[in-house]
Amino acid sequence: MDDGRQEPGKDFQPQDNSQQEPRSVDMNKNKDTNHVEDGIFDVIVVGSGAGAMLSACRAADHGLSVLMIEKSDRYGGTSAISGGAIWIPNNDQMARFGIQDSPEEALTYLKSCTKGLVSEDRLRAYLDNAPALVRYLNEKTHARYEPNPYYADYYQALPGAKSGGRTMDVEQFDAARLGWDFSRLREQSPATLMLGRYAMTTAEAVRLMGRAPGWKWLAAKIILKYWSDIHWRLKTRRDRKLTFGNALIAALRRSMLDRDIPLWLNTGLQSLVVEDDRVVGIKARREGHDVLLRARHGVILAAGGFERNQIMREKYLPGPTRTEWTAAPPVNTGDAINAGMALGARTDLMEHAWFCPTVGVPGEEKQRGIFAERSMPGCIAVNASGRRFVNESAPYLDFVYAMYASQQQGVQSVPCYLVFDAAFRRKYPMGPLMPGSVMPDRKLPQAWFGQFLWRADTIDELATMINVDAEGLAASVAKMNSYARTGVDEEFARGANDFDRFYSDPSVKPNPNLGPLSEAPFYAVRLDAGDIGTKGGLLTDERARVVSEEGESIAGLYCIGNSSASVMGASYPGAGSTLGPAMTFGFIAANDIAASLASAHREPAHA
Ligand code: FAD
Repeated sequence: MDDGRQEPGKDFQPQDNSQQEPRSVDMNKNKDTNHVEDGIFDVIVVGSGAGAMLSACRAADHGLSVLMIEKSDRYGGTSAISGGAIWIPNNDQMARFGIQDSPEEALTYLKSCTKGLVSEDRLRAYLDNAPALVRYLNEKTHARYEPNPYYADYYQALPGAKSGGRTMDVEQFDAARLGWDFSRLREQSPATLMLGRYAMTTAEAVRLMGRAPGWKWLAAKIILKYWSDIHWRLKTRRDRKLTFGNALIAALRRSMLDRDIPLWLNTGLQSLVVEDDRVVGIKARREGHDVLLRARHGVILAAGGFERNQIMREKYLPGPTRTEWTAAPPVNTGDAINAGMALGARTDLMEHAWFCPTVGVPGEEKQRGIFAERSMPGCIAVNASGRRFVNESAPYLDFVYAMYASQQQGVQSVPCYLVFDAAFRRKYPMGPLMPGSVMPDRKLPQAWFGQFLWRADTIDELATMINVDAEGLAASVAKMNSYARTGVDEEFARGANDFDRFYSDPSVKPNPNLGPLSEAPFYAVRLDAGDIGTKGGLLTDERARVVSEEGESIAGLYCIGNSSASVMGASYPGAGSTLGPAMTFGFIAANDIAASLASAHREPAHA
C-alpha cells in the first residue's frame, strides 16, 4: 500500500499496522508477559494526534527508530476532527500578504495574554521554533500551510495583536494518497462538513456562512464535485477531499508511511518505566496483552488531555462540568498526565480547558462546538434571568469563562441559551441546523425540539419553554434591536473589532454582527459549558522535557499537546493556539532527543 496511490475497497478493511515494524528494531514477539521486552526503539511516541505525528516524523528524520502507539482503533485523536489551523506568529509567509510581524511584537502579545502564568523561556521557545516548524511541515512533510490574512488574533485590544496572518490554514489533502490507511483515520466531525457530508475548506466555510456573493454557486459546485467522483462514491460516503484536521492528520500519516514509522493501534499506555532516575520505556496494553516497550532515548507523551474523565473534570475544572459536553472524541482520559504524576511530575493549569460552548445533538458521539454561529447578527446569549452576560462574538474560551462568571453571581448560566428569530434561522446555520432556506423546520428531526432546540411564536412563550425570566428576555431583545439600529452594542461592544467581524454578515449594516430579533417564530438553542480539550497537564520546560515536583527535568521524558500544561496559559491568543504548540513542542522534543544523543556521543566516556 505504500505507493500511496491505492484506493480503499468497498468494505474498508483496515490495514493491519500492528505488523509494521521499523527496520532497525529488535522485536520480541512474546506478547503474553510484561517481564520480557516486547520491543526496543529509540523513541516511543504515545498518542497519534498532530503533535505526536510531527514529532515521530522529525525524530525519524534524525535517524532515530520510532514507535507510535495509539489507544483507540483509529488514529488522529481530536486533531483529526479539528479545524487544523495553527497559530504561528512571525511566520515566513506573512510578508507575502503585506503583514509585518516580529518576535518582539509576538512576545509582547503572548506575555499580555498569558499574564505571567508561563515562563518567558517557554514563550520564547515557542516563538523561536514555530516558524521553523512550518518550514519543516511545508518542505519535509505532506502538510501544506498558508497564512489566513483575515483571521485576527483573539484579543485585538492587547499590545502586539495582529488583525490577520498568524493563523495558518492547512491545504486540502486527497484521501486516495493514504491508500488503505484511510480507513483508520478518525472521521471528520459532521460539524465541519457542509450538510454533514461535503468537505469544505476554511475559505469556503467562511464564504458559505457569511453568504458572500456566489455562495449558492459555491455550494452547488462542492456538491457536484462530490457526486461526480463516481469511482470514489462507489467505495465510501466519506469525501475524498479531506480538509481541516483530517487533511493535517492524513498528510502527516502519509509522511509517517514514507518513513516506515510503525503505528500500533489498540495499544494504550499504562505506565512509565524508570531505571536509574531515567524513563527508559513504557508498559502498555496491546490488543488485550500487557507489553513492555523500551525507549533508548526518549518517551514523548502526546495522549491528549482529560476531557473524557469525569472524575478528573470534577476534581480540577470549574463546576458544573460533564464529559458529555466536550466536542472532543471519546478517547482522552488523562492517561499520560496520570502516568507522569505517578512518577512525581509537576502539573500546571489543571483548572483550565480550551473551553467552548457546545450543543448536544441526540445520537452524536460528541457535542458540537459553537464557534462561529453565535457571532452572526440576530442572536443573543442569555442566562436564566433572560439577560445577556457576554459578547456573543467573543472567543469561545472567553464565552465559557463568562458563563461560569455569571453562574458564580448566582444566576443559572450553565447552560445558557442562544435566542434568535426567523430571519436568523432562514439565513445562518446554528450547530446542526442548516439555514432554514436549505433545511426548513419541517425537515428537522422532531426529537431535536425540547432537547436542545425550542421554537415559539412569541418571546414570552419561548422564555417559559426554556425556563428563563420572560421580562428579562424581552428587555434583552429590545436592547439588541436598538443596538442593531445604531450599530453600537452598549453593553458588550459586539462587532467592534476585527476578530468579532471575522464571522459576521458584511451585508448587514451598520454593524455586521448586530441584527434585530423581530420576526416570529423565535428559537432557542441550549449551550453547555463544553470544551475542545483540556489544557492543564504535565509541566514542561523550554525543551519539552517534563519537570518534576522538585523542579528538575525528568530524564528521558517529554510531553506535548494537551497532556502538557499549555504554553498559552489560561488564554487563547488566536485560532490554532493548541495545534501550533503541540506540533512546535513535538518538533522541539525530537530535536532535543537528537541533540542530547549527539552531545552524548561527543563526550568522552567516563571510567
Ligand atoms: P489528540 O489529538 O486528541 O491526540 C491524543 C491521542 O492520544 C488520541 O488519539 C487518543 O486516543 C490517544 N490516547 C489517549 N490515551 C492514550 C493512551 N493511554 N495510550 C495511547 N494513546 C492514547 N486546535 C487548533 O489549534 N486549531 C484548530 O483549528 C482547532 N479546531 C478544533 C475544532 C474542533 C471541533 C475541536 C474538537 C478541537 C479543535 N482544536 C483546534 C483543538 C485541538 O484539536 C486539540 O487541542 C488538539 O488536537 C489536541 O492534540 P493532542 O495531540 O494533545 O490530542
